[in-house]
Amino acid sequence: MPQIAAYAAQSADQPLVPHTIERRTPNSKDIAINIRYCGVCHSDLHMIRNEWGSWGETLYPCVPGHEIIGTVVAVGKEVTKFGVGDTVGVGCMVDSCGQCSPCQAGEENYCEQGFTLTYNSKDDYGHTFGGYSAHIVVDEQFVLSIAHKNNLAAVAPLLCAGITMYSPLRHWNVDSTKKIGIVGLGGLGHMGVKLAHAMGAHVVLFTTSPNKATEAKNLGADEVVISKDPGQMNAHAASLDFIINTVAVPHNLDNYLSLLKKDGILCLVGIPTTPHPSSHVFNLVAKRRAIVGSLIGGIKETQEMLDFCAKHNIVSDIEIIPMKDINQAYERMLNNDVKYRFVIDMQTLRDER
Ligand code: NAP
Ligand code: ZN
Repeated sequence: MPQIAAYAAQSADQPLVPHTIERRTPNSKDIAINIRYCGVCHSDLHMIRNEWGSWGETLYPCVPGHEIIGTVVAVGKEVTKFGVGDTVGVGCMVDSCGQCSPCQAGEENYCEQGFTLTYNSKDDYGHTFGGYSAHIVVDEQFVLSIAHKNNLAAVAPLLCAGITMYSPLRHWNVDSTKKIGIVGLGGLGHMGVKLAHAMGAHVVLFTTSPNKATEAKNLGADEVVISKDPGQMNAHAASLDFIINTVAVPHNLDNYLSLLKKDGILCLVGIPTTPHPSSHVFNLVAKRRAIVGSLIGGIKETQEMLDFCAKHNIVSDIEIIPMKDINQAYERMLNNDVKYRFVIDMQTLRDER
């Protein structure tokens, strides 16, 4: 099997280091992709440090990366959707059972057998390796076409951050009649602001970082609330239809529940490593409010999101880094010092070897 340059964590307490992996020779329905860019998701950091425990025990060596943009370099003989030279994307999934009712409905992200993660899932060859690598081989059903012509590095984060926000916005019917909240202006949150704005919603951004207020408005927020200021929070009491919370650390959800109107919904997408404190039941029963969650999106919806973004000229705001800077990038992400997504230029990995 071909030897591929990559970066991997060898254990939970070690930084990423250069590593070599094997990829399968493409099967008849596979596509071989030269990776050009890979986004850096906060989930990559949770995963290499084995922070999700029994929900996703990390398999080492761990090669993260699930926001992949690349060029097709070979196709299996039964492939119909793509050809050599096409620009394509790969997100968080590379396989699913295809038989269960979520899969049949195009919601492979809720596959009853558990879908195959782009990295950290067992497969026939050991376990899967993600996009912090020069090359990947994926079944064509899990490959996305990319209509954007320029700025492809900034398209990469749509494959996870973009779909993770798009899917709940669509599922809970966000449109121009809705006042919605986005909590946290990070990789996911800034995509949420852009997407909800493009869907016509009135967007309120909740942030712990006063220095992000002006930029949040430039990204599409109608209002910005500093979430540590009770006065600013109370000004929105019982007024929002829908809130998506992207924060990766446990915090008091009551502060957000109380901002929802009757039948309002708080959707959690951030996945802290320990639970949020339980919210007060009164905050739910009094206005029939709900707390829900959402996990990425299906392949069909991911394609819909990519086409929506191409049509509305939406990409991520990014900082491009060379592969060797990944460990500093993680530290900066933890210090809330990224606007708003790191993307690795994978040519820098090829140049290293
Ligand atoms: P990120 O870029 O680090 O953004 C998180 C944001 O949360 C920060 O920018 C910051 O925004 C806010 N924040 C940070 N520390 C905080 C604190 N102590 N209290 C309150 N707010 C704080 O991370 P991301 O890549 O967007 O990922 C966010 C979470 O979503 C992670 O847990 C990730 O694993 C998860 N995730 C879930 C899915 C899914 O399908 N459900 C998919 C991808 C990622 P402000 O400065 O504006 O406050
Ligand atoms: Zn992700």
